[in-house]
Amino acid sequence: MTCLVTGGAGYIGGHTVLALLDAGHQVIVLDDLSTGFRWSVPDPARLIVGDAGDLDLVCRVVRTNKITSILHFAAKTVVPDSFRDPLGYYLTNAVKTQTLLAAAVSENVRNLIFSSTAAVYESSESLVSEDQKADPESPYGRSKYMAECMIKDVGAAYNMRYGILRYFNVAGADPKGRNGQSTKTATHLIKVALETALGKRPCMEIFGNDYPTPDGFAVRDYIHVADLANAHVLALSRLQGGAESFTVNCGYSRGYSVREVVDVVKAVTEIDFEVRLAPRRAGDLASVVANSDRLRSFGWRPRYDELSTIVRHAYQWELELARASRLPDSDSVNTPDATDRPVGGSYNRTM
Ligand code: UDP
Repeated sequence: MTCLVTGGAGYIGGHTVLALLDAGHQVIVLDDLSTGFRWSVPDPARLIVGDAGDLDLVCRVVRTNKITSILHFAAKTVVPDSFRDPLGYYLTNAVKTQTLLAAAVSENVRNLIFSSTAAVYESSESLVSEDQKADPESPYGRSKYMAECMIKDVGAAYNMRYGILRYFNVAGADPKGRNGQSTKTATHLIKVALETALGKRPCMEIFGNDYPTPDGFAVRDYIHVADLANAHVLALSRLQGGAESFTVNCGYSRGYSVREVVDVVKAVTEIDFEVRLAPRRAGDLASVVANSDRLRSFGWRPRYDELSTIVRHAYQWELELARASRLPDSDSVNTPDATDRPVGGSYNRTM
């Protein structure tokens, strides 16, 4: 059975494509390459460059390839960015999801996996479970929550089952070195810290030290992208096996403060770098850590749930990006459209 992966040329989508291929699925990726990379879609997956919000295109791709399952990653994903561009976030994350759902219903797609986020929750001192009331504090979180609501309503009205995966803080890179976070304007903590360690940035800022947390720094649950990718494969096989629709947290149930993360980055890289204190960032929550009982009850067994492992894999990828950027243009990730493959972005199941 072939599945359609929107946004499969991006960071989490790209790792999930690898996991799907590893599990023997056939994969078609639909990605407009606005932030994704062509090299991120290895053979035998097929890339169609286009918009996940293009009704006719999605209908055609689904019909031609007899697709019964869609994994929908295509989205804008940066919390601070969403305050500057709320309309862009509502268009991409909410409106285009509505269009994708319309296509899925009209073509009788049976299963939908949706990339949601812990940003739908409010801050919590205790572990957050899926039935905690959603109360997003950013346009990003609200746009994702709107999409969740649509998916649930569509699932109730039509013959389509869904798995909504709420990601906590995703980091790390493919342990086999085939993919990693490659966005050049990254804002995520581990990426920013690694770029600072490698001298790509003169220093980094920590946003806020006056949170009501044990050390005053914001606390997050960092999940390795490969464990998250495997959660998608599991979620898909649940739906394909006839399970009921579900919403599930994807995290490890373990929180680290920003300060602790920076310390681990310094320890893993063995590089000291300058860290400055800055004011809180809009929309940042004090603490969000997953209750992951539901995902574990599905049989999910994380393999890379040490923060130092997450950082080590992310560091290896950063080193590859740095190496690739020193190569002549054809192999460089610094080419204008940055679609060339940096390194091991090839598919190799046996590596
Ligand atoms: N953060 C920081 N400095 C940075 C990037 C992030 O202090 O350069 C903090 C941010 O304020 C938040 C945590 O790190 O408390 C995680 O932020 P990130 O952007 O990685 O993910 P988010 O939780 O916003 O999805």
